[in-house]
Amino acid sequence: MLENGKGPSLPVTSGECEREPDRRPLLQGFHQDAEGHWVAELSCGHTQHLRHQPPWQNRAWVLDPTQRQRLLGQPFTCGWCAAQAAPMDKE
Ligand SMILES: [Zn+2]
Repeated sequence: MLENGKGPSLPVTSGECEREPDRRPLLQGFHQDAEGHWVAELSCGHTQHLRHQPPWQNRAWVLDPTQRQRLLGQPFTCGWCAAQAAPMDKE
């Protein structure tokens, strides 16, 4: 008994890979706070301070309008949401 055909080999593509969609909020805008620091406005409702205080926080890009424009509408990591998503010891 020859078993030639092993049946149609099914490609293992049952649905997409378990690739997580980018759940990061989108960067919707910028404004400057009272001290002139740039603040990112995110679609999650949070804001992220983008302080440029070298050498501690080096975000020279945020001073450049072109660079800021480039990030508009892009996913942006929200520290607040990230903290919520991370398992926290509440006790
Ligand atoms: Zn957020």
